[in-house]
Amino acid sequence: MTGSQNRVMLLGSKSIGVICVASWLAVMALTIRNLKIRGQILLVTLPPLFVLLCAVALLFYAYWSALHTGRSASRSKEGVARGEALLRHATEATMAVRGYVFTRRKDVLDPYDKAVVDAQEDLIALHELEANDPEQLKEVNGIRTKFDRMQREWAVPTIEKVRRGEDLDAPALVQDGLTRMAALRLQVSSLVKEDEAQYGDETRGAEWVMHRMLVVGVSLAALLAGILLFLTSVVTRLIVVPVLQLIRASEQVSRGDFEPVLPPLVDNEFGVLSRSFSNMTAALRREREEIAALNQFSEAVTQCTSEREVYDLLLHSLKERFQPRQVMVFKLNASENYLEAAATLVPLPKEVGAWPMIEEPHNCKAVRTGRHFRVNDVSVEPLCPSKFVLPTEGSYYCGPLIAGGIIIGSVRMEAAKDLWTPERERLLESYLSGAASALSNLRLLDTMKQQANIDVLTGLYNRRFLEDYARKLFAIARRRAQPVGLLMMDLDHFKNFNDVYGHEIGDRILRHFAKTVTTCMRETNLAARYGGEEFVVLLPDTGPKSCALVAERIRKAVMVMVVPSNTDRPLPQVTVSMGIAVFPDHGQTLEEVVQASDKALYESKRAGRNRVTVYIPQEAAAG
Ligand code: GH3
Ligand code: MG
Ligand code: MG
Repeated sequence: MTGSQNRVMLLGSKSIGVICVASWLAVMALTIRNLKIRGQILLVTLPPLFVLLCAVALLFYAYWSALHTGRSASRSKEGVARGEALLRHATEATMAVRGYVFTRRKDVLDPYDKAVVDAQEDLIALHELEANDPEQLKEVNGIRTKFDRMQREWAVPTIEKVRRGEDLDAPALVQDGLTRMAALRLQVSSLVKEDEAQYGDETRGAEWVMHRMLVVGVSLAALLAGILLFLTSVVTRLIVVPVLQLIRASEQVSRGDFEPVLPPLVDNEFGVLSRSFSNMTAALRREREEIAALNQFSEAVTQCTSEREVYDLLLHSLKERFQPRQVMVFKLNASENYLEAAATLVPLPKEVGAWPMIEEPHNCKAVRTGRHFRVNDVSVEPLCPSKFVLPTEGSYYCGPLIAGGIIIGSVRMEAAKDLWTPERERLLESYLSGAASALSNLRLLDTMKQQANIDVLTGLYNRRFLEDYARKLFAIARRRAQPVGLLMMDLDHFKNFNDVYGHEIGDRILRHFAKTVTTCMRETNLAARYGGEEFVVLLPDTGPKSCALVAERIRKAVMVMVVPSNTDRPLPQVTVSMGIAVFPDHGQTLEEVVQASDKALYESKRAGRNRVTVYIPQEAAAG
C-alpha cells in the first residue's frame, strides 16, 4: 500500500470517528434521561469500548503496514544491488573480450565465461524481484534482450574471429562492444534508479504511517480520557444525584417533613422509585393528618355535655374526613327493646316519616352481632334487613357503638361505591369508639346525678330532691292557681321495732312501707323519704279532701302490709300516723306547709296514732 493510500484511509477513519462521536452525543442528549439504568450504563460504556476497538484496529493496521512496507523496501533495495552486480559482470565480460582482441592471449579471456554466468544469474534474480511490477519487468526483459544480443552478435563472433587468427579492425570492434555496453548500462541504470526511487518512497511512506500512528495514538488516548471524564459527570448526574436526592428525601421524611425534594419523574427506575416514594410520603402525611383529626375529635368529644352535642360533633367530623352522602346515628334505648334514629347528617325526606323512627334492634346487624356490616355496592350485594331507608346506590357501612363492652347503638355511613379499605374502616371504628365512650360517660353521669337524688334504702327520692321539686311545683301551682297537697307520715312506735327485732327488721319495714306508699299513689304524685322513719308525699293539683282520701288509702294499705319476720314469730302490725297541709291555703312557702303538716301529724299522734289529720289553721280552730 502506498503512502497516499494510507493518508486517504486515515482521513476516512477520522471522519467516521467524528460522525460516530456526534451521533452518540445526540443519542445521549435525547434519550439517556428516560433510559433504564442498564441502558444508561450501556450507553455510557459504548464510546470508550468503541475507542479502544479503534485503537486496537489501528495498532494491527500499523503492524501490517510496517511489515508490508519493510518487505517491499527490501525487494527494491535488492533490485538495486542486483542491477549494479549485473553491470559489473557485464563490464567484466566486455573487458575480457576487449583484452583478448588487443593481446590475443587466451588467459586474458578466462574471466569472460564466469562473468557471463554471473550476469545471467543477476538477470534471473532481477526477473524474480520485479515479477510484481509489470513496468520494471518489461525493463528487465529489455536488459536481458540487450545482454543476449551483445553476447550473440558481438562477444561470441569477436572471440571466434580472434581464435581463428583472422585480421580484425580491433578499434572498431572494441568501439562496437563499448557502445553496446553503454546502451546496456543506460537501461540497467534506469531500472536501478526506479528501484531506488521506489525504495525511498516506501521508506518515507512507512515513516509517515508511523508518525501518523503516534499522532492518532496520542489523540485517541486524549479522546478516551476526555470521554471518561465526561462520562463520569454524566453518570454522576444520572445515578449518583438521584440516589443522594432520595437519601436526603428519606431523612426529611424521618424528621417529619412530608414535602421532600424528590428526583424528577423520569421514565426509568429512578422515576418509579421517586413516584412510589412520593406516594408513600403522601400516605404517611394523610395518616398523620387523620391521626391529628382523630385526636382532635377524641379531645372535643370528651368535653360534650349532652348526647346531641356528641351526635353533632360525630356527624361533622365524619363529614370532614370521609365526605359521605349520609350518616345516621341510631340509639338503643335503656331496656334494649328498640333502636331509635337519633341524628342524621342530611335531613331525611318528608315521606320517610316523622321522628322518632323506631326499629327492632335485631334488624340492625351491627347491633345484633357487635361487629360492623359493610356493603361495597348496594346494586349487587345483599343488604341488611334494616327498616330505616337504605341507600339505592353506592356503598354503606354500619358499625356498632360499643362502650365498656355494651352496645349502645350504631352508626350507618353511606358513601360512593367501593370506597372502603381496611384503613378507612379502622379509622371510622376509632371515631365510633370515641363517640360511644363519650355517650356512655354522659349516661353514667346522668345515672350518678339521679342517684344523688335517690334514697339508697327505700329507692324513693331523698329530702334534698323533694325540697327542690316542691319549690318548683309550688311556683308552677302559684301561676296556675292550683293547690298542692303535702302528706307528712311517721311510723308509729318504730323505735320499738328496732329495739325488739333489730335494725335489719327496721330497715325491712321501711322498704316495705315505701313500696306500699308508691302503689297507693298516682303517677303525678311524688313520694320521698324525709328522714328516719318520716316520709312525705306531694300531690299536685290536689285539695285537702282528696289528700285525705289518698292518705286513708295508704294508712289502710299499711295496716294490711305483711313484713316477713326473721323468726317464727310474726311481726306486730305496722301503723302510720299522717298530717296533711295544702299549699297555698296552709302555707305560702314549703317550710310553712311542712310545719303545718307536722302540726297535723302531731295531732294524729296525740289522738292515738294510726290516723290522718288535716291541718286546721289556728283562726279556723279558734272559730
Ligand atoms: P312515735 O310513734 O312517737 O313516732 O314513736 P317512735 O318510736 O317512732 O319514735 P321516734 O320517731 O322518736 O323514733 C324514731 C326511730 O326511728 C329512732 C331511730 O332509731 C329509728 N330510725 C331512724 N332511721 C332509721 C333507719 O334508717 N333504720 C332503722 N332501722 N331505724 C331508724
Ligand atoms: Mg319520727
Ligand atoms: Mg315514729
